[in-house]
Amino acid sequence: MTNTLAEVPLEQITRFYEQAFRDLNRESPVPAVDVSYYPYVGLNQTIRVRDGKVFVRIADMCRDMPAEPHRALAYILVAKLLRRRVRAEANRIYDEYISSEEMRDRSSDRKRSHGRKIVTTSKGEVYDLDEIFDNMNFWFFGGKLAKPVLTWSVKKTYRILAHHDATHDTIVVSKSLDSRSVPRFIVEYIVYHEMLHIHHPTVHHKGRRYNHTPVFRRDEKKFPRYQEAEDWIERSVRKLKRNAKRK
Ligand SMILES: [Zn+2]
Repeated sequence: MTNTLAEVPLEQITRFYEQAFRDLNRESPVPAVDVSYYPYVGLNQTIRVRDGKVFVRIADMCRDMPAEPHRALAYILVAKLLRRRVRAEANRIYDEYISSEEMRDRSSDRKRSHGRKIVTTSKGEVYDLDEIFDNMNFWFFGGKLAKPVLTWSVKKTYRILAHHDATHDTIVVSKSLDSRSVPRFIVEYIVYHEMLHIHHPTVHHKGRRYNHTPVFRRDEKKFPRYQEAEDWIERSVRKLKRNAKRK
């Protein structure tokens, strides 16, 4: 693929992100933003927070995207990060660009040439645990929680949805949750629970081990949709299992 159009300079794109933070999050100072292109297969754009810095990765195939859709994408990604509603105008501008025939062709060309999608263990088919961890870390731990190894389980387990292995500093999340039928906030809640195990290590008292201490339970309820998440898990785990068996 040859690129005949001029690229919008990364510094200019970075300013779009800074502006989006300024507009969408007036109460807080604008964070440092690092924008780069990344050889994602297909149109994958990501935003994440690490150590208080915001990292934006834009799919390689958008290198010649004009300034306007870049600006729209900045508002879309920042709104997602901040859990704000995405402005309809931003969606319209960005969608118009990516649904052009040229972009659709590129997308399918790249998928063919790359063959099978490369799946790392933290990046599932639907949810990226790494990204979810970073966002939870930003919102609930001020970005200060040390990152463990994050991985989807190899098999779909239903009784145990996730666990934190302190010896190997690993959070394993059941593959059964990497599904479009599972809302994002459920995966966030489950990752958040495991993060609390890092934040509140096991207490040993008179020969017994306490994992879910009162402070742990108190923090768990800080998750904004705590009760909704608990109810969903209660209701849905059996259903997930039935659906899996049917396949
Ligand atoms: Zn637990």
